Amino acid sequence: MYKKILLKLSGEALSGEGKKGFDTNFSNYLVSELKKVYDLNVKIGIVIGAGNVFRGKELELEGFKTKMADQLGMLGTVMNSIYLKHFLDKNGFKSIVFSNTVNLPSVMPFKYDLVDFYFEQEYIVIFAGGTSNPLFTTDTAAALRAVEMDAEILIKATKVNGIYNKDPKEFPDSYKIDKISFSDAISQDIKVMDTEAFSICQRNKLPIIIINFFDKGSLLKAVKGEEIGTLVYP
Ligand code: UDP
Repeated sequence: MYKKILLKLSGEALSGEGKKGFDTNFSNYLVSELKKVYDLNVKIGIVIGAGNVFRGKELELEGFKTKMADQLGMLGTVMNSIYLKHFLDKNGFKSIVFSNTVNLPSVMPFKYDLVDFYFEQEYIVIFAGGTSNPLFTTDTAAALRAVEMDAEILIKATKVNGIYNKDPKEFPDSYKIDKISFSDAISQDIKVMDTEAFSICQRNKLPIIIINFFDKGSLLKAVKGEEIGTLVYP
């Protein structure tokens, strides 16, 4: 069983696939899935995206400059992180949000000693604000924070149950790949995560598991080391 994980959630974990905004049914589901793992004393770091609020690429289509659009995206991750903290606290978890992107009373400055301290105190640690830099995504932020917090595994929660050889929606003969090395994932241009994220994890020998978060119990299975989703290994 993994004892220290970084969970990367898409912003859509708070709204539902392809939706904008917030739907409490999804927050409640998220909390119930996290509880199964939290109760096993697993140390949990979370990076949440902002696809339910702003995504840089979508704003660009409306004419925004990339560097402006991305700042809205990063602020969206801060909103989602505070929103998630509320649900965690309400449900009896201890949680804390870290970011150097904003100065807000509910957000602690990101300092390694503080992060370690709160993990020791059994808090769920939420890393908000992406990398604090436009031109990146929260996948890259997740890879960075996972390495910085010494996570044993980065679990990317998505809406598909792993990496496929071809798009399963288009090709009925596609099949799921259970395991793939970072070098193969990068050379085959597998789109499930950014190349930047893959390469940070590869350099730091940090494996990634891709799971379908909406399969009940999938997070717990991944944490227990059961065969699920796709493992990307160094
Ligand atoms: N973003 C950024 N720098 C970062 C992380 C995120 O500029 O380090 C912006 C970028 O515009 C991105 C948006 O924040 O589109 C939301 O993140 P992401 O698209 O990764 O969210 P998700 O799809 O996981 O919900």
